[in-house]
Amino acid sequence: MALSLFSGGLDSILAAKLIQNQGLDVIGIHFFSPFFGNVEKTSCWEQEYNIDILPIYIGEEYFEIIKNPRYGYGKGLNPCIDCKIYMLKRAKQLMPLFKAKFIITGEVVGQRPMSQRKDSMNTIIRESNTKDILLRPLCAKNLPPTKVEEQGIVDRSKLLDLQGRSRKKQLELAKKFNIKKIPTPAGGCLLTDPEMARRFKPIIDNKLNLTSEDFLFAKYGRQFWSDKYWLIVGRNHRENLELLKLAKESDFVFKLSNIPGPIGIGRSENSSWPNELILSAAKVIISYSKAKESLTPVKIQVCKKAVVDELEILPDRERPSLWRGPI
Ligand code: SF4
Repeated sequence: MALSLFSGGLDSILAAKLIQNQGLDVIGIHFFSPFFGNVEKTSCWEQEYNIDILPIYIGEEYFEIIKNPRYGYGKGLNPCIDCKIYMLKRAKQLMPLFKAKFIITGEVVGQRPMSQRKDSMNTIIRESNTKDILLRPLCAKNLPPTKVEEQGIVDRSKLLDLQGRSRKKQLELAKKFNIKKIPTPAGGCLLTDPEMARRFKPIIDNKLNLTSEDFLFAKYGRQFWSDKYWLIVGRNHRENLELLKLAKESDFVFKLSNIPGPIGIGRSENSSWPNELILSAAKVIISYSKAKESLTPVKIQVCKKAVVDELEILPDRERPSLWRGPI
């Protein structure tokens, strides 16, 4: 039995199939978080690729890694080396439960600039303490033989020697395994997306003691920051509804009283906001509504913990400078 880090990307599927093809059982461990993974797809994958999959949510402890990765970030906010180490450690803990003898990944030497360089791959093995149990079937022949190969549990001659960024051989192999649905490369990790990285970064820079829900929040709307105060303004009806769903009891909710317009959510560790900041947040929200050029005061509700205040505000011609954004 092998446990496989199964992202749902083509390489993870092929790695699992190569080992299954040797008559060994494989269970795919699908880690998912607000940034990556697709738990809804697991039963589809099980049927499509004939691989049992165990989805595992990774939450708060993973956010600590994002905030302060030992091996730094890739192009976005992706702490790939720390992330791989973390996933392997978690998979290793699961081995006794499944009586698994080893772990496999779909890594390919030289495919990704950060985590799949040879030196990084060695770091990942060392730090996750998986030297004797980690097999990378797609590029095993470019690496020293592992214990499971030496013991004859896995036939090394049937493993591959892929390297580099080309996907050609993977696509040929997919054909051989009769894989019809080819997933898009990269797997869609939001942390690698520069736009998302820009949105997540102030949360980290401001060293806020926030949680997974806060990172989820950063996916939506226009983001504004004023020191450690955070304002999110919906861009459309769907986002307004999402923001209302995600709002916490301690948040400020801004809503125009008599005219349609965006929902604004104000969040901070500080439960109280200076009046000046509340006023300028309300002005930001008005500036994205039809009332932005009104010559008479506009009514806007500011709600917190079921207490509703209604303010009357004359819109500014300029967006209030107290807020940095939109991000
Ligand atoms: S791309 Fe995302 S999920 Fe993949 S290793 Fe990097 S941080 Fe982790």
